Amino acid sequence: MTTAPRSAVVIGGGIVGLATAYDLSRHGISVTVVDEGHIDQRASSATAGIIGGSSVIPWANDQLWGRVPGMLLDRTKPLYLTWPLPKKLASFLRYSLQSGRPDTVKASAAGLANLGLKGRAYWADLLRDLPEAAELFDYEGCLLFYDSEAAKKGDAKDTALRRGFGMQIDDLTADEVRQILPPLEKPVFGASSVTTAGHVVDPVGLQNALCDGIKRNGGQFAKARAEALKLANGAVISVKAGTQEISGDVFVLAAGQGAADLGRELGIRIPMAPAWGVSVTFQDPGINLKVPLLVLNEGLAITPSRQGLRVSGLLQIGGEGKASTMQARLMTVARQIFGDFSYTGTQTFMGPRPLTADSLPFLGQDTSCTNLFHNFGHGHWGLTQASTSASVVRNLILGRPSEIDISAYRPDRFCNQ
Ligand SMILES: Cc1cc2nc3c(=O)[nH]c(=O)nc-3n(C[C@H](O)[C@H](O)[C@H](O)COP(=O)(O)OP(=O)(O)OC[C@H]3O[C@@H](n4cnc5c(N)ncnc54)[C@H](O)[C@@H]3O)c2cc1C
Repeated sequence: MTTAPRSAVVIGGGIVGLATAYDLSRHGISVTVVDEGHIDQRASSATAGIIGGSSVIPWANDQLWGRVPGMLLDRTKPLYLTWPLPKKLASFLRYSLQSGRPDTVKASAAGLANLGLKGRAYWADLLRDLPEAAELFDYEGCLLFYDSEAAKKGDAKDTALRRGFGMQIDDLTADEVRQILPPLEKPVFGASSVTTAGHVVDPVGLQNALCDGIKRNGGQFAKARAEALKLANGAVISVKAGTQEISGDVFVLAAGQGAADLGRELGIRIPMAPAWGVSVTFQDPGINLKVPLLVLNEGLAITPSRQGLRVSGLLQIGGEGKASTMQARLMTVARQIFGDFSYTGTQTFMGPRPLTADSLPFLGQDTSCTNLFHNFGHGHWGLTQASTSASVVRNLILGRPSEIDISAYRPDRFCNQ
């Protein structure tokens, strides 16, 4: 690009697309956000809302594969496989097996740390002029909760890895945990307290505040499905979205799991699968939880939120948004943890985490189309990473040097494997 771009089309209006669009809009670029769906159907709305809690641990590793069959057969485990299975699952699993090798896991962990551990600082910078969004962040830390010695031992290797990346983690005894938490039905063995972590008290409110900020900066929204990118001379000239052809100087593919189809059409190999997760918020539960709790062996997190007690997590491959099994499981586990508590209502969200084989997003400039930028595939930690990723894309678009090394996220990294 010889002249500075003046307009950008951002495909996808989840937290990653919105953070990117807002960042571009505050740097004088006229943005159009294209999104087909409703705010309730995004991973960004189902999120637990934790910033930087356990965010350096890749999901695939060599110890995982032996445990998967047992997890799938046991309905009390956090992993589900449901029909219809997603497209390209076999190829996703093949790349995931490769990515689970110790050397690749190490590289993935470094890539996650590079984006995630800067999330807090980049969110603060991004929301400098948007106080109504900044006030939705609370930095009181979070607890990795252990109900038994086995649970603590099982997490020891990951905690060492977290500390290796400089995460501030304190070991808490059972008594210390009991002083922080409300009374629990579940046995307490101890916890790791991640003191630099935080959480968003209203994830949907954060998306709405970013939308308001984008509109205030002159940005627009198109409610339509992006079906195809129109290319000419090695550049994207427009995106076909419903009945519209939306053009711009630059394009950002930030559609979470929905980016896979558009990206594959461009010839990029994208081993990514929708890892559905769910959150149930219990309104007025009478449980005074001050900091988020990650119950790793149950595959869920419990977060204090403006709307009530938010219990989120589990992982379902396939099933295209059918939440009932996971919703029921979350409600059961919440009672196992807190006892039989009462509440006035519940609110449920379900969304697909865009899970890549190596746990890292596709982030950077397209290798064929010079005015196309990728920003998707943030998996388990997209809320944490959205601000850092947005700044990467903004700097690339403005032709400024990147503040972080982005070689690990190359969009074409699977093309030669
Ligand atoms: C249960 C659960 C708990 C989680 N907890 C945490 C946590 O504690 N901390 C954390 O950091 N992360 C967490 N995550 C992960 C995080 O929520 C995701 O990584 C993040 O929301 C991904 O954001 P996104 O914008 O890429 O995707 P999404 O939020 O899914 O948004 C993608 C958007 O793109 C749109 N779209 C798709 N295809 C098209 C198309 N063709 N045309 C137009 N629009 C399209 C969709 O409508 C959607 O609105 C959690 C996720 C889940 C499910």
